[in-house]
Amino acid sequence: MSTTPDDAVRAYVEAHRAAFLDDLAAWLRIPSVSADPGRAGDVRRSAQWLVDKLLATGFVTAEVWETAGAPAVFAEWPSGDPEAPTVLVYGHHDVQPAALEDGWHSEPFEPRVHDGKLYARGAADDKGQVLFHTLGVRAHLAATGRTAPAVNLKLLIEGEEESGSPNFPDLVRSRADRLRCDAVIVSDTGMWSADTPTVCTGMRGLADCQIDLYGPDQDIHSGSFGGAVPNPAMEAARLAAGLHDADLRVAIPGFYDGVVELTDRERELFAELPFDEARWLRTAHSHATFGEAGFTTLERVWARPTAEVNGIGGGYQGPGGKTIVPASAQLKLSFRLVEGQDAEKIQQAVREWVAERLPAGIRHEITFWGATRPCLTPLDHPALRSVVRAMGRAFDKPVRFTREGGSGPAADLRDVLGAPVLFLGISVPSDGWHAPNEKVELDLLMKGVESAAYLWADLAEHWKVPVAG
Ligand SMILES: [Zn+2]
Repeated sequence: MSTTPDDAVRAYVEAHRAAFLDDLAAWLRIPSVSADPGRAGDVRRSAQWLVDKLLATGFVTAEVWETAGAPAVFAEWPSGDPEAPTVLVYGHHDVQPAALEDGWHSEPFEPRVHDGKLYARGAADDKGQVLFHTLGVRAHLAATGRTAPAVNLKLLIEGEEESGSPNFPDLVRSRADRLRCDAVIVSDTGMWSADTPTVCTGMRGLADCQIDLYGPDQDIHSGSFGGAVPNPAMEAARLAAGLHDADLRVAIPGFYDGVVELTDRERELFAELPFDEARWLRTAHSHATFGEAGFTTLERVWARPTAEVNGIGGGYQGPGGKTIVPASAQLKLSFRLVEGQDAEKIQQAVREWVAERLPAGIRHEITFWGATRPCLTPLDHPALRSVVRAMGRAFDKPVRFTREGGSGPAADLRDVLGAPVLFLGISVPSDGWHAPNEKVELDLLMKGVESAAYLWADLAEHWKVPVAG
């Protein structure tokens, strides 16, 4: 029987699995918690550990990139082929806080293998999924006989993703020249389940704000004045209640302008997923589904823009009654955005909508915390097809499509670098991201290694990018 590339990749991965897992364990022992100022030295140590590992892997360049906060790592390994596409892998080397007393069964920074799972903070989010690229590229070289990857491979591994990536947009903008690429591969996501490998094709954007409403100059007597002056708490409630129409569509004029609608094909693909509503509700800790008429639950969370009241308050909250018209009230809103929506225009539409609805005598201030743009990769993009084929070979199963309802820094990469964002992740929902007893399934981790190994060869074969003139 002849040796197929798959056999060569698998043999290489199998032969190097133990050493790879030892490396991962060593990295996981570094508690690179970006949120904890006391761990800044560990975050730095984690960055340097990765630089050393990438140089040992064969990357021609690997360096620590300073930011105003925690350091990132950049690495590069050119292919030598002028027609080869350039791919930038994104991930992060910082982790969420973790302590034994949070409910861990063993020390979160002392990796432990049990029953085919590796338990440690960062095992899945995101060190395991960053590190699989090191063995992946070595397996790619071993299987193809190449001495450099078939694509120009770059890595950008940030150090403060778990702290909201405050310096990431600046970093990407200031280093855009060296980050230039034809596609971004984000390895910081997961799959539907161990049995259903999936590729995520997009994330929603986010705009969120606080609206402060001010009425009388102080709390006043509801008997002497109530009913004859405007009440900021009632206005906060009216704004919240007015966010949606009877079909639970967002009622802010212009909100849906430019929205890229789901295609019939995408709706079919979502419907193919083995979605179990009762189980989903358990993970949501909710007692019923609810939302925009005409869409399924998955469509609502992945592909429809939404408006949510995150908090509402004002007036007297203590025990018993207090008959006042309160002086102030407050509303916190968030808007999840989909491809085609412009976060700045949404902010403007919200400002106008609020201003128009408030009566004389209610002064207001709106503070937007910022805006994350959505990103969506077309299903027929050649790089997406390569990711699907690579994962299909690794898992030996059909690969299905998902999207992610949340928001992330991937859109910064897409916007600044002008490259599509693709997702290659092997984590599963039970991996416990940000929770006690985070783990990664070792078999899936090795499928991630394999997927990466196939991906570079597949991309180079099927995607010729025009040579810049
Ligand atoms: Zn992550």
